[in-house]
Amino acid sequence: MSLSYDFHTHSTASDGTLAPGELVKRAHEAGVELLALTDHDTVAGIAEAAAAAQEAGIGLLPGVEISVSWNGQTVHILGLNLDPRNPTLLEGLRGLLEYRAWRAEEIGRRLEKAGISGGYEGARALAGGELVGRTHFARFLVAGGYARDVREVFRNFLVKGKPGHVTGDWAGLEEALGWIHGAGGVAAVAHPARYRMTRSKLRRLLGEFHELGGQGLEVVSGSHSRDECFTMARHARDFGLLASAGSDYHGPENPWISLGRLPALPPGCRPIRHLFDTDETNGAVLSNTSG
Ligand code: AMP
Ligand code: MN
Ligand code: MN
Ligand code: MN
Repeated sequence: MSLSYDFHTHSTASDGTLAPGELVKRAHEAGVELLALTDHDTVAGIAEAAAAAQEAGIGLLPGVEISVSWNGQTVHILGLNLDPRNPTLLEGLRGLLEYRAWRAEEIGRRLEKAGISGGYEGARALAGGELVGRTHFARFLVAGGYARDVREVFRNFLVKGKPGHVTGDWAGLEEALGWIHGAGGVAAVAHPARYRMTRSKLRRLLGEFHELGGQGLEVVSGSHSRDECFTMARHARDFGLLASAGSDYHGPENPWISLGRLPALPPGCRPIRHLFDTDETNGAVLSNTSG
């Protein structure tokens, strides 16, 4: 059985390869009835996605995936069903974009030191827009023959101890949750198994997140094994968190992750999906009729 929603996807507004409208079209073709667009640190793709969703007759949850620094580590917090015009949210995201711009130059300088030139310009050209991420550098390095694919880049470059690494200096956890809640959204910890945290550190994160009013945990993720889904379902239950599910789709170039082909939530989960059953969503969306 697969779910008819997908609450974690990327477009060209961040490091995805499909334009927001194209992403929505593909989601519709894949049977998705309610889609969240959750670009990294930007809501710039929401308007186009919402228009395309209306056209296709599916629902769109305006969302974002905020980069957060917590206890010396980067974690990603999803904001779902938020108002993409909220001034405080937009100002917070602007700060992250400014940091990204500096970081991109710094990654370029560090790659130069390792004998790889043109990385900054190359990544910017591949990004096309305002936001430059490590994925754009990864695609540049693959095109230059430094690695066979993006996954290999993230083993040999751009990560701790490797050329091109820059330690993240992102939003605080409390700050990010403040922006999401201020914009009327619901927060969820993205792909929790990806952080490779010890069990106790992850539970510390979830405890703090819950204390700050965070409500969701991405139990089912395109980057989770089935065992990891079950482990995360138990953590969600222990902390009273609602279970979210998302592919973390970045485009058809990564054939190991597909849109809207998510396995069911493990038994006993309280689905975050139910929060969006009514049409009280932000951003003029939810054109799906069946209710
Ligand atoms: P950034 O937010 O710019 O630091 O980049 C983080 C992004 O890099 C993630 O959202 C993924 O798209 C990508 N990424 C990180 N690790 C990997 C990996 N091991 N394989 C493929 N993509 C990765
Ligand atoms: Mn990404
Ligand atoms: Mn992420
Ligand atoms: Mn993501």
